[in-house]
Amino acid sequence: MNKGYGKSPDAALHFALFGNPVAQSLSPLMHGAAFAKMGLAALYTAYRVDEAADVVRRIREKGIRGASITIPFKQTVVALLDEVDANAAAIGAVNTISNTGGRLMGYNTDSTGLARDLEEWVGIGARTFVVLGAGGAARAAVFTILRAGGEAVVVNRTVERARTLAGDLGCRWALPGEIGRLEADCLINTTPIGMFPEADRTPLGSELLVHFPRVMDMIYNPVRTRLLRESEAAGCAVRSGVGMFVHQGADQVRLWTGLEPPREEMQRVVLERLEGRSGD
Ligand code: NAP
Repeated sequence: MNKGYGKSPDAALHFALFGNPVAQSLSPLMHGAAFAKMGLAALYTAYRVDEAADVVRRIREKGIRGASITIPFKQTVVALLDEVDANAAAIGAVNTISNTGGRLMGYNTDSTGLARDLEEWVGIGARTFVVLGAGGAARAAVFTILRAGGEAVVVNRTVERARTLAGDLGCRWALPGEIGRLEADCLINTTPIGMFPEADRTPLGSELLVHFPRVMDMIYNPVRTRLLRESEAAGCAVRSGVGMFVHQGADQVRLWTGLEPPREEMQRVVLERLEGRSGD
C-alpha cells in the first residue's frame, strides 16, 4: 500500500486508487489536496493490485466509498461491477467506481474531464480531431468528440485496433503513413510516447505538425513534452494533459461527494509537483 493523504487515518470516508503501477501517480496528492480544501475528513490511498478481481474485493472488504482505476484495469474491471453508466459502457472502460451500500457503479471521467478541458480550450462541436492511438484513452477521446458534435479520425500503429475503434464508435480511421494528407483543427496524442522517463521521444515527425493548428498531448508528465515543444516551434497552439487530468479527478470527487471540488487548488498542487521536481 502506498502513502495515504488526508485528514485522519480513522476517517469515515475512504477513497482509493487501484492500478499497477501506482507509485508514480499524482492522484493521491491531488485528491488529498481537494479533500483538505473542502474540509472533508477523507483518506485517499493507492493500492497496487495484480488483477481486476482484487479491485472489487478490496473495495468491498475495506468499505471504500469511491475508487480511481488506472492502468491496466480500466477495461477488465467493467465486467465485475454491478452497473456501468451509459457513457462508460459505450467507451468500454471505467476509471471511476462509486460504492453505494455495497453496490458498485462504474463511470468514465476521462471522457467528462477531456470534454471540459477541450471546451475550455478550443471547443469540440464542428471541429475535426486527429486522434493518435487506439487504446483506452483514445476510445474515451473519440467518444467525447463525437458526442459533442465533433469529427474524429483515428491513427494507430496497429491498424486493426484503429479499424475496430472506428467501427465501434462510428468515426474515420487512417493509416500512419497517411497522416501528412490529413487536415484537422486539432491533433490529440493519446499514446504514451514521450512520457517520463522517455521524455526525449515523440509520436510524430516535426515536419507533419504544420498540418495541425492545435496540438494536445494527454501526457502530463512532463508538462511540456517533446511533441508540445516541437509543436510550439512549428507555430501550433498547444495543450498539455494536466487540465484533463485535473478535471477527470475533480469529476470523480463530485461523483463521490456530490460537492463541487476545488479545481484550481487541484491544478496548483499538480503543477507545483510536476514543475518543481521535473521527472518525478
Ligand atoms: P493504452 O490502452 O495502452 O493505449 C496506448 C496506445 O498507444 C495504443 O494504441 C498503442 O498502439 C499506442 N502506442 C504505445 N506505444 C507505442 C509506440 N511505441 N509506437 C506507436 N504507438 C504506440 O493506454 P491508454 O490507457 O490509452 O493511455 C495512453 C496515454 O494516455 C498514457 O500516456 C496515459 O497516461 C494518458 N492518459 C492521460 C489522461 C489524463 O488525464 N491526462 C487520462 C488517461 C490517459 P498499439 O495499439 O499499436 O499497441
